[in-house]
Amino acid sequence: MQLPQQLLDSLTGVAGFDREAFIRVHESGEQVTSVRINSAKASIDNRQPAIEQFLSPRSAKISWSSNGYYLPERPAFIFDPLIHAGAYYVQEASSMFVEQALTQTTDVSQPLRVLDLCAAPGGKSTLLQSLISADSLLVSNEVIKSRAAILEENSVKWGGANVIVTNADPTAFEKLPNFFDVVVIDAPCSGSGLFRRDREAIGEWSEQNVDLCYQRQQRILSAVLPSLKEGGVLIYSTCSYSKEEDEHIADWLMDTFSVGSLPLATEASWGIVETQSDKHRAYGYRFFPYKVRGEGFFISCFRKQEGGNSVVKPPKKSLLQKASKNETVIIQPWLLAGAPVQLWKQKEEILAFPQQLEKELLTIVDNVYVRRAGIAIGKIAGNDLVPDHALALSNIINPATVAVTLKREEALQYLRREEVSLSIGQKGWTLVQFEHYNVGWIKVLPNRINNYYPQGWRILKRGTADSANENS
Ligand code: SAM
Repeated sequence: MQLPQQLLDSLTGVAGFDREAFIRVHESGEQVTSVRINSAKASIDNRQPAIEQFLSPRSAKISWSSNGYYLPERPAFIFDPLIHAGAYYVQEASSMFVEQALTQTTDVSQPLRVLDLCAAPGGKSTLLQSLISADSLLVSNEVIKSRAAILEENSVKWGGANVIVTNADPTAFEKLPNFFDVVVIDAPCSGSGLFRRDREAIGEWSEQNVDLCYQRQQRILSAVLPSLKEGGVLIYSTCSYSKEEDEHIADWLMDTFSVGSLPLATEASWGIVETQSDKHRAYGYRFFPYKVRGEGFFISCFRKQEGGNSVVKPPKKSLLQKASKNETVIIQPWLLAGAPVQLWKQKEEILAFPQQLEKELLTIVDNVYVRRAGIAIGKIAGNDLVPDHALALSNIINPATVAVTLKREEALQYLRREEVSLSIGQKGWTLVQFEHYNVGWIKVLPNRINNYYPQGWRILKRGTADSANENS
């Protein structure tokens, strides 16, 4: 499919744009595959060999990312149990530059309140989870319900307790003035940056859509800027090359709000092009696939200069109640000793959330539609816990929990939610592990084993890692 002439013409004069090189890289058929390792999980005992084997000797580090790697080829990710265990995330390399945007503008050793407003399927959110401290809050929001479900799944797999997944329109955050230290807006856009990877997107591109996206981006930013506190940082990104959605949005932002542009340091060898907007000279960073080993991307950071601090008070009455002493006693043995979490109850469900973030949790639950907060622990039945899948994948599960190791084929059977036949002496709830990573729960009964992998997450595709050719 031919690249849109109007796009090529509109990019003439944009810093770093080289028409010939741009056409060539799109015709080359070259594909770049990259992943980001879940450092919190990888650091747990015995897991390093699995990661090293997965990365294989030919993988190369992504220069601007702590945990990002290029893979020499694209494996059939869906048939790798490690991906279902949240050991890594398949993420486009340029997007991982969000790490630089956050760490160069913000002190991530401090407790922060971070909002990722357009978060599904969760690439930036899982990256943010890995970068912020355990006593920081991440609100991962997605407006489209079906996409919010995928965001939730990826967030659960990543395992952090300090995350709230919400499903709300950006205007919902107007109820939280000056609340967040960082707001990330990875805006819905016309998508030209992904043309090399997604040829169909070429046919969908139009100047009218660029204009519609520009207007939508303004609406999103207008709705959410008030929720950023004074001195807080806005990270704005798109996967569009169009100036309208990039530098023009930066100029519009600086015309409309009291924000200052923030420069970022890059190394020449990375191939990232620094630009400045026409009117306010706002800094932006452009990624062209013939200069960078990654897809098309744009990012720009701003510091808010007025607004003050949050005056939002948590509600007196909440949908959440603290778990009782008895419930806490039942749950304690399932948790990592000393995990600094408070247990909460909503109807029958128990969840764990960082103790220091009680005010934040109650405030978000009171104001925004929450799909999931913290780690779902499970339900109490009599004097026992019926554990939730999220507990198995979390970073707060007791490492001494009874577990059984599955071989690759057994793990795939489990992930397809098929019957798994294992000879296990001990009865009851048992973790299943693959290469020391937790994959989920089974319940061992006297005459059979029940598979508790979540129905909606199961692998539907047939095949094995060797036979498949899929896109994750
Ligand atoms: N940040 C994500 C990641 O790294 O995986 C990708 C986000 S994608 C570029 C943009 C997201 O914005 C999509 O999930 C889309 O559903 C959402 N979106 C679409 N329209 C929106 C709107 N009007 N307000 C907020 N978000 C919107």
